[in-house]
Amino acid sequence: RHLLDRIQQLDGHYNSFITVTEEQALEQAAAADRRLAAGEAPALCGVPIAHKDLFCTRGVRTSCGSKMLDNFAPPYDATVVEKLNAAGSVTLGKTNMDEFAMGSSNETSYYGPVKNPWNVDCVPGGSSGGSAAAVAAQLVPGATATDTGGSIRQPAALTNTTGLKPTYGRVSRWGMIAFASSLDQGGPIARNAEDCAYLLSAMAGHDGKDSTSLNRPAEDYTRSLNDSIADLKIGVPKEYFGEGLNADVAARVETALKAFEALGAKLVEISLPHTDLAVPAYYVIAPAEASANLSRFDGVRYGYRCADPKDLRDLYMRSRGEGFGEEVQRRILVGTYALSAGYYDAYYNKAQQVRRLIKQDFVQAFEKVDVIMGPTSPNPAFAIGAKKADPVAMYLEDIYTIAANLAGLPAMSLPCGLVNNLPVGLQIIGNYLCEARMLNIAHQYQ
Ligand code: GLN
Repeated sequence: RHLLDRIQQLDGHYNSFITVTEEQALEQAAAADRRLAAGEAPALCGVPIAHKDLFCTRGVRTSCGSKMLDNFAPPYDATVVEKLNAAGSVTLGKTNMDEFAMGSSNETSYYGPVKNPWNVDCVPGGSSGGSAAAVAAQLVPGATATDTGGSIRQPAALTNTTGLKPTYGRVSRWGMIAFASSLDQGGPIARNAEDCAYLLSAMAGHDGKDSTSLNRPAEDYTRSLNDSIADLKIGVPKEYFGEGLNADVAARVETALKAFEALGAKLVEISLPHTDLAVPAYYVIAPAEASANLSRFDGVRYGYRCADPKDLRDLYMRSRGEGFGEEVQRRILVGTYALSAGYYDAYYNKAQQVRRLIKQDFVQAFEKVDVIMGPTSPNPAFAIGAKKADPVAMYLEDIYTIAANLAGLPAMSLPCGLVNNLPVGLQIIGNYLCEARMLNIAHQYQ
């Protein structure tokens, strides 16, 4: 009730929720009370959370930030939603996001931009900006999010929250509206690593309904939070501290690295030589997959349908033309072009080869170090509108986050100080399935 009241009083400033599920939340809370009274206490019993609006929620609008799905209430829950419900959590609503998770600023949402609670003239990052802003504004202690090229970590960095993108396949994608299927991964955003550990423990695990789900047992990610990190070997990639990195951001990250040294860790300079190819490879692969995934929105089966179509072609063209926003249409065009017969080898195949090289960089790095650290994002939060007209400037905000998605590695962002009263994020990239260790490392710092 307290948080629902806060959302009502404050979210007019932030626009972090698309839908507030008040009635359902109060029912779930009453059910949690009954479970506690009966001596049952699942891990997240009564803990209020919110879901990014691309996790399907039965009977509750799941818009993906798009006019295309403004009228869509799925008939089923995503596996992540089902698991968090089973753990006893209480869903307060669905959070705002860039349309179809395409963006780094939350300005492409059909429901209007999300404002950064640290400065409402600035973006909160994207695409999970609603989840990050809701946690930062203390409207909810934790929220689900997804990360295809940085959408958990970058908004976490820009709002002083902690967010973790698990190893690809660790969290089920069933019921998560697809953007780029080989890159998409769900994970938590919360106030700190400890809360992320509780949320991830409930979210992760094998799911037969997702063919890319890893067949590994569930884990308790809180188990090693208090382990020592003395002797930890931290790789610091020189490519993550070059041109394009804001000097104040670099200074905060370097201070954090010294704090890890003080905790007994050793810093090792490493090289990830193909770093500069990550953004170009991603912006071929992600749009290519998106163009295929988004072909299902045709105005026929569900979602937006244009008024009075003349014929089938007109129905397709106007439903998609009116239902999708500008950035989504740009990605569909880029992806369709890259996959077309004459260009497939030159673009898509080439990008897949580059992806392999980037993955190889990490394999070599993890022979020498336990984790990799650097900045999450090259800049603190920027002004709303500042980069909207320049897609390439926007794409470059993802320069440090995208490689982990291309390689399928787990990566997280945690707060590491302020620049002009705007938050800066420290990124930790781990080896496959090392989430527990990463959360331990972050917890020791926090
Ligand atoms: N900013 C990146 C993009 O626009 C990543 C988005 C994401 O991770 N969903 O594609």
